[in-house]
Amino acid sequence: MSKVGETTLVMDLSALEHNYRYLQSRIKPETKFLGVVKAFAYGSDTVTIAQKLEQLGVDYLAVAYVNEGVLLRDAGIKTPILVLHPLVANFEEMIERCLEPNIYSKNILNQFLEVAQEKKQSEYPIHIKFNTGLNRLGFTENDIDFIAQKCKQNKNVKIVSTFSHLAASEDLKERDFSLKQINSFKKLSTALGNTLGYVPMRHMLNTSGIINYPEAQFDMVRSGIGLYGYGNQAEIDAQLKPVATLKTIISQIHEIGTNQSVGYNRAFKATKTIKSATLPIGHADGIGRQYGKGKGSVLINGKKAPILGNVCMDMIMVDVTGIDCQEGDEAIIFGSERSAEKFTASANTISYEILTAISQRVKRVVLNQ
Ligand SMILES: *Cc1c(COP(=O)(O)O)cnc(C)c1O
Repeated sequence: MSKVGETTLVMDLSALEHNYRYLQSRIKPETKFLGVVKAFAYGSDTVTIAQKLEQLGVDYLAVAYVNEGVLLRDAGIKTPILVLHPLVANFEEMIERCLEPNIYSKNILNQFLEVAQEKKQSEYPIHIKFNTGLNRLGFTENDIDFIAQKCKQNKNVKIVSTFSHLAASEDLKERDFSLKQINSFKKLSTALGNTLGYVPMRHMLNTSGIINYPEAQFDMVRSGIGLYGYGNQAEIDAQLKPVATLKTIISQIHEIGTNQSVGYNRAFKATKTIKSATLPIGHADGIGRQYGKGKGSVLINGKKAPILGNVCMDMIMVDVTGIDCQEGDEAIIFGSERSAEKFTASANTISYEILTAISQRVKRVVLNQ
């Protein structure tokens, strides 16, 4: 992999292609595939990832918010885009940019119908979300008549899909709960279909759902984290390749004598002479303060160098005692050589959080475009 001269997130699109093909091998050939590219494509780069997924032939893309979808349309992405968490303030823009809303409440449905009518839309695609236990967004059984009655005669919109989201798809201890959610979704989507007179496309599974509940693929699956190379369980991680590798370089090396301290608030105090390296990456780049005081580490020339003391805004200092290294050498935070999941393990968080935390200040480089 190429050498870097500054903090860089290297995105390997051949890994994305590999992950896409692996996930496809886990679903039926006729099942559609939605690629989730919310939050800057899990902290990488929305447009780069979406363009590659479009080229690979995904059926749908999803973002969380309307501005993320606008970015994709501005870049010429033509694939249908589902907006998972639309807000009323963005409905007009949404229609102007052909972004398809998740309709999750009576209020959202009423307001969207109004805007669709004002803008003289005909059969504008909408997606109905059912809450089957996550208790985040979605309609319940009691709302089915309301939805059907509102949408049946109305020609301004058309329900193109119904969907739901599992609360614990990666946790096999919650298997019974997940199966209940799947059953409940089946019931709700069938009931709505019966009242509407047609059955819209159905989808429920995220990445871990694809792995653990193959029987619930319905017409489409929605994968995010798997595309980026993480499977929430070791056997699946072994099949996937991290797309993003975060690297930086050593700016300066110091010898720290006994009783000297490193960084703000003197959070690290040396009890023997050690060697520290200062790296140009800090909490403003996404390395949160929870990685300080040895909870996080970087790899330098294949060796683990724990973070010394507090993470600064723009820098961290790491312990390179006993590591053969020089100023200008590369330091790897996570990626192909050590997964983001491993980087986060002792800081009590998950791959999703560190990936999406990498800030826009960090340079992006694309390999194998
Ligand atoms: C983020 C999200 C996904 C993707 O989940 P992964 O675990 O990253 O595969 C799927 N569906 C919904 C509703 C989401 O919010």
